[in-house]
Amino acid sequence: MIETVVMIILAFVVALVLLYISLSYRRKPAKQFQPIQEKDRNLLQQYVSFYNELDKQKQSEFENRIEHFLCTVRITGINTKVERLDQLLIASSAIIPIFSFHNWQYMNLNEVLLYPGSFDEMFNQEGDERTRAGIVGDGPYQNIMILSKQEMREGFINSDSKHNTAIHEFVHLIDKTDGAVDGIPETLIGKQYVLPWLNLMQQNIQRIREGESDINPYGATNQAEFFAVVSEYFFERPDLLKENHPQLFGLLEQIFKPNY
Ligand SMILES: [Zn+2]
Repeated sequence: MIETVVMIILAFVVALVLLYISLSYRRKPAKQFQPIQEKDRNLLQQYVSFYNELDKQKQSEFENRIEHFLCTVRITGINTKVERLDQLLIASSAIIPIFSFHNWQYMNLNEVLLYPGSFDEMFNQEGDERTRAGIVGDGPYQNIMILSKQEMREGFINSDSKHNTAIHEFVHLIDKTDGAVDGIPETLIGKQYVLPWLNLMQQNIQRIREGESDINPYGATNQAEFFAVVSEYFFERPDLLKENHPQLFGLLEQIFKPNY
């Protein structure tokens, strides 16, 4: 009798150990980290205009920072395969907004989940309510970002658009670093610019609501969305933003490129 109990306990312990091993194996970033090679540079040149506009020295720094990002943040495909292009584009989206901040680390991010397409509020990948292409997690999803592969790639493939889903989500994450996702990235912005930035955000949100702006109307949802949407515009079409909104362009330069 005692032997049977011992056997059952032993079997249970062995099962637990096996389960732990298989789970930890699954969560390893399988071969995620590979140093940047020539074929990766070709992909960056093909898809990432921000990279193309850097000089050779800064391109090399950009590559190092992509490598570092891929060493520290896991990218996991959910019902989709994570290809090298996806790794490079997600890492680029993370580095582009904070490229001027040499020691920046995403302390609030452990993993990016890549879904094949858009999803709904409950993270369902099917149905008619799939309005989301990206999200920065909260609660049980703390330190996790979810991106739609399709929209994430489109942000880079279509170089004329003012949209870039992954940059949008990374800007939310930067905004969140000071504890509040409120459109004021206190870790980046100089104190003297906070008030002018608040005023400019309010003026532009008003203009969007009145239908007198070329900024994505989603930016009028609140200050946090305005900051994320206008940052996409800033990094995707800086020339156009400068022409249409010189004041916004000037303040965004103070926020993202204070050392240039
Ligand atoms: Zn958003």
